Amino acid sequence: MTLPKTIGELKESGYQPKTVKGELRANLINRMKKGDQLFSGIIGYDETVIPEIENAILSCHDIILLGERGQAKTRIMRSLTTLLDESLPVIAGCEINDNPYYPLCKHCHEKITGDKEKTTLAWLPPEMRFSEKLATPDVTIADLIGDIDPVKIAEGRYLSDERAIHYGLIPRTNRGVFAINELPDLHEKIQVGLFNLLEERDVQIRGFKIALPLDIVIIATANPEDYTSRGRIITPLKDRFGAQIRTHYPKTREDEISIVRQEIAPFTTDGFTLTIPPFMEEIIAEISQTARLQSEINHSSGISVRMSIHNMENLISNAFRRSIRLHEHEVVPRTIDLTHLSSSMKGKIEWNFIEDTIEEEKCSLLIRDAVSKIFKKYFSHHSFTPFLKQFSTGDGFELSEMTPSPSYLHNGEPYPALMERVSQLVDNTSPAQQASAVEFILEGLAITGRIKKEIRETALIYRANT
Ligand SMILES: [Zn+2]
Repeated sequence: MTLPKTIGELKESGYQPKTVKGELRANLINRMKKGDQLFSGIIGYDETVIPEIENAILSCHDIILLGERGQAKTRIMRSLTTLLDESLPVIAGCEINDNPYYPLCKHCHEKITGDKEKTTLAWLPPEMRFSEKLATPDVTIADLIGDIDPVKIAEGRYLSDERAIHYGLIPRTNRGVFAINELPDLHEKIQVGLFNLLEERDVQIRGFKIALPLDIVIIATANPEDYTSRGRIITPLKDRFGAQIRTHYPKTREDEISIVRQEIAPFTTDGFTLTIPPFMEEIIAEISQTARLQSEINHSSGISVRMSIHNMENLISNAFRRSIRLHEHEVVPRTIDLTHLSSSMKGKIEWNFIEDTIEEEKCSLLIRDAVSKIFKKYFSHHSFTPFLKQFSTGDGFELSEMTPSPSYLHNGEPYPALMERVSQLVDNTSPAQQASAVEFILEGLAITGRIKKEIRETALIYRANT
């Protein structure tokens, strides 16, 4: 199908313009009728956030998403473009994407006064109808709304002439979706300007009042504490948002794992394959889930799902480093690799204490708690009674980050009861997976006080309790 190229052709095609909100609504209804999902790749919100967003779109509301960091707010904002039409006709060359039937800007009006029907069109794809701005205190009216363009003045335009304006981001997103991150960080003066534009449909630029009835959907985000604290948001702007929707962290470990799987950088390195045992995935997810419940952590900014993602990437890299050095082709993370997570945890957790020195220690404790929880999920207190009996007469296990996988099988030989448990956890034909399972069990037993663990320089020694 060829798209109309002029206003005349557009009229002949029977095209009827919609408002952006009407467009989102119509496309949402179609998608719901077909039984399709609202957004793809947004996990854990099916019963909470998604229905609220659907309601907001059906109600033609502007939306404010309230949530701590790392709760997919930005992804939701960007996903709104999937509800826009495939392409939208605008007057070609218009800075503010004017509607061919009802142009706003003077430039387009002048263009049309000639032969209106022959005025040429441009067709915008959804991605060209979305802009995003991170609110910071130094964002200006010029950035968002516009400013007098000195070049245009020099060319002889009058200050009061709308053609002397250099449009900012919002007018340039006319007939599209404007997303603003961290709304409370916007200076009050700018909030007032924003409100006037959205509600009064006019702008004040350098004292000149210019009518600019834009057609726009606003979606904003804010940290809940900033948003509700007095004076951070001017009341009329708050009122403008028809829907205030609270986002949240994954409510289950399974959801957290699904997000990590979806988001981690793909592992593609010739000659190596990656296997992440389920218990290692669960430990990574549990670290964040445990941290979110800790009283020693300041929760106003939250513990982002990004911590889980970065922890997983870090864990994989450490396992990969070992595989390269040892010339092993299967990359499998082990519990000893968890000691490298502090670099991906620091900076994502705001502790209530100040001393840096205990930060590392607190991160280790979080990891320890997570390992313990997952270990107890897999095994009961009695799971290892036969093994512990065998272990009490043996030499124990000494291992380090760089211990080759086959050594675990060799060291495990005297303990068939241990290897039987290992075979319940992983593929029994893979030494690298078996090594990881042996470590997980030994670490779990040590954390739960069933065996002893000594740390000697880079080595770990697991021995029977005496
Ligand atoms: Zn125009």
